[in-house]
Amino acid sequence: MDGTLHTTEATGTLPLRSRALIPPLRILRPVAVEEAVAMLGLPGAVAMAGGVEVVAGLKFGGPPRTLVLLRRLAGFMGIEQREEGIRIGALATHEQVARSPLLRAAVPGLAETWGRIANIRIRHQGTLAGCLLAGLPQYDAPPALAALDARLVCRVGHETIRVPWHAPRGLVLGIDIPPGWRFAHERSLRPWLLVSAAVYGVQGRVRVLRLAVGGAHRRAIGADLPEAETLDASGLARHARALAEAWAARLPEPDHLPPGTPGPCWRRRASAALAARLIARLADD
Ligand SMILES: Cc1cc2nc3c(=O)[nH]c(=O)nc-3n(C[C@H](O)[C@H](O)[C@H](O)COP(=O)(O)OP(=O)(O)OC[C@H]3O[C@@H](n4cnc5c(N)ncnc54)[C@H](O)[C@@H]3O)c2cc1C
Repeated sequence: MDGTLHTTEATGTLPLRSRALIPPLRILRPVAVEEAVAMLGLPGAVAMAGGVEVVAGLKFGGPPRTLVLLRRLAGFMGIEQREEGIRIGALATHEQVARSPLLRAAVPGLAETWGRIANIRIRHQGTLAGCLLAGLPQYDAPPALAALDARLVCRVGHETIRVPWHAPRGLVLGIDIPPGWRFAHERSLRPWLLVSAAVYGVQGRVRVLRLAVGGAHRRAIGADLPEAETLDASGLARHARALAEAWAARLPEPDHLPPGTPGPCWRRRASAALAARLIARLADD
């Protein structure tokens, strides 16, 4: 699914989306990572975690598919402390992210945000990894993971590698959230605009302040704000508006304009307003 609204060429009407259009399926249920990787190498094979996106896509029809259901893979549902930070298993649902005691203690802003996304059914079914890998600009995962500069743990062939949040490869096994960051997220102008902020400090001074924007761009864009370095909490609060405006002024032009989207000028101003709110919130924490 690419997030655009598809219309049939002949009539301009929306295409039929129905269970009846689901193509013939071959369903595979690997129990080990090696098995899953081999299955995903089969022609037309698609990985399925919670299946929210995959099943919605199947209802538009298409060629026969091989679905590789990941749910039976042991060990990828959990959220655990690692040296690299907190690892969120690729099968962890939104609800698990929201309720994880580890995340609530380490990155409370992330856990709290995740308790508010979607609805209760989707939160129990959909995974954070699936939300990112769906690749849709209006979803919350891309800007959030961009602000936190999360890493993906991926299995490619026999190798396990760590890659940036925006460069998944092969089978994703987990998402690493680096330690020591505070996080805040604004989704009040979704789907047009989502803004995330993360700050890393040492002895009360900002080392890195990173902002990320989603919705307006096909891929969320994250950027560090060098102007914030060494500010303390009161400096951060005092300069929140100026920092946010400087960041928004440097944003590239939006490249994602779904129907009914306000213009680029509005987006820049609204990005600055949301970012200022987040910076002030982080300064207050
Ligand atoms: C009514 C509704 C409301 C929603 N509201 C929100 C919202 O407010 N905010 C928001 O952010 N999202 C929202 N969503 C989207 C939702 O978060 C995602 O659909 C869901 O998280 C997808 O996760 P999944 O596990 O079901 O993914 P799946 O459908 O299983 O997979 C999604 C994609 O990722 C691939 N994939 C999945 N896991 C792996 C893996 N481990 N390795 C490699 N590839 C993989 C699949 O092949 C597929 O391409 C909403 C969806 C619905 C239907």
